[in-house]
Amino acid sequence: MSSIMQNDVVVVGGGISGLSLAYYSVKAGMKTTLIEKDDSTGGSFSSPRHRVGGREFWLELGAHTCYSSYKNLLDIVEGCGLIDAITPRAKVPFSLYKDGEVKSLVSSLNIAELLLSAPKIFSLKKSGLSVKDYYSKIVGHKNYNEIISHFFNAVPSQVTDDFPADLMFKSREKRKDVLKNYTFAEGLQSIAKAISASRGLNVFTSREVVSIQEENGKYIVITSDGTTYASKVLALAVPSSVASRLLGTVKPAIAEHLGLLGAATVDSVGVVIRKENLDLKPVAALISPNDLFFSAVSLDTVPHDNFRGFAFHFRPGFDHNTKMTRICEVLRIAPSKIEKTFTRINTVPSLCLGHHEWLEKTDTLLKGQKNLLLTGNYFGGMAIEDCVSRSKSEFSRVSL
Ligand SMILES: Cc1cc2nc3c(=O)[nH]c(=O)nc-3n(C[C@H](O)[C@H](O)[C@H](O)COP(=O)(O)OP(=O)(O)OC[C@H]3O[C@@H](n4cnc5c(N)ncnc54)[C@H](O)[C@@H]3O)c2cc1C
Repeated sequence: MSSIMQNDVVVVGGGISGLSLAYYSVKAGMKTTLIEKDDSTGGSFSSPRHRVGGREFWLELGAHTCYSSYKNLLDIVEGCGLIDAITPRAKVPFSLYKDGEVKSLVSSLNIAELLLSAPKIFSLKKSGLSVKDYYSKIVGHKNYNEIISHFFNAVPSQVTDDFPADLMFKSREKRKDVLKNYTFAEGLQSIAKAISASRGLNVFTSREVVSIQEENGKYIVITSDGTTYASKVLALAVPSSVASRLLGTVKPAIAEHLGLLGAATVDSVGVVIRKENLDLKPVAALISPNDLFFSAVSLDTVPHDNFRGFAFHFRPGFDHNTKMTRICEVLRIAPSKIEKTFTRINTVPSLCLGHHEWLEKTDTLLKGQKNLLLTGNYFGGMAIEDCVSRSKSEFSRVSL
């Protein structure tokens, strides 16, 4: 055992779920190691940079917006000394891209149907209803099918008709001293970098965890390069399918339960274009119903003197050339005008009605498990604050 690295807590997965759990752990004075398979931490926080001469531009390949209601996240941001890096987002519209034209959301809605339906918002409860059931009553069936559903699909880049309505958008208490919505001076990945630099936190990147065993009351975590880590507490902050696979032999009942959840892959392509080469008016995002992509999120929210950037979030299964051709068609540019391309694949949960019962069973299964923590974006919702809140409540179960 002498060559095995000994820890109080090993966290597998360096997205915001794993990072926030690691943050709570080092703050509590525990010897903590975080292991991430990619070459940097952040997961769905991915803010790659494009540098030309002295000029630098970054764009977001994943999450892009935080809100004043993200109180647990903000506590961590403050704890990491990052609060001054909070940056406002310019007010530019989320627009519809249909028949080759950019259209406003409001002008595309059937206002008569909306006015007739909207009063139901005061009586209809979200609980027990799917997104389709709830919102088609609030905005009208035609508005939902033709317009609104596509905006919802753009959030987790998949069809959201069957998502539980109460897990899609949550109302949370807001902090009044923080901007309503914001990003950070160098993008959301700054949060990942700041947490990773926490004193006392050992971070290992480019190491995929391939196996987990239990020995003498400790967890033994083995990575693809053969390194072994021993730990009193194991926190899994990876997609549910990965957690299910890793727990297969040590906790078969939990592994089976995790294996019940579905997930979607989001295939994202980010492009950087010189401002003068693009005619498109500034937008926050383009939502294109029934297209190859769910949304094209722009960085026009943080205007730059020289560049504009777009992250196209594609349905899975298209080859690179097909995706690049569609990007050029939508932006009306020649391929040669694309200055830089970035790609990333993220995993997002496919939640459906019955998820609350799944969560209750998860709690029951974890009750008997000493020091096995499960966090991620597949518990109380996929918003950043949901991930941090899950990590906070899971960490409160630790007893060494
Ligand atoms: C395109 C997109 C846009 C979004 N926009 C927003 C937004 O604007 N606002 C908002 O609130 N939310 C947004 N979300 C949701 C939110 O960003 C995510 O739900 C959240 O960041 C997920 O964090 P996570 O740590 O749970 O998972 P992830 O970020 O997926 O992190 C999991 C990590 O585990 C690592 N990993 C996996 N397997 C292994 C292994 N075997 N060994 C080691 N490491 C492993 C992965 O490489 C990854 O880094 C968005 C999500 C996406 C995909």
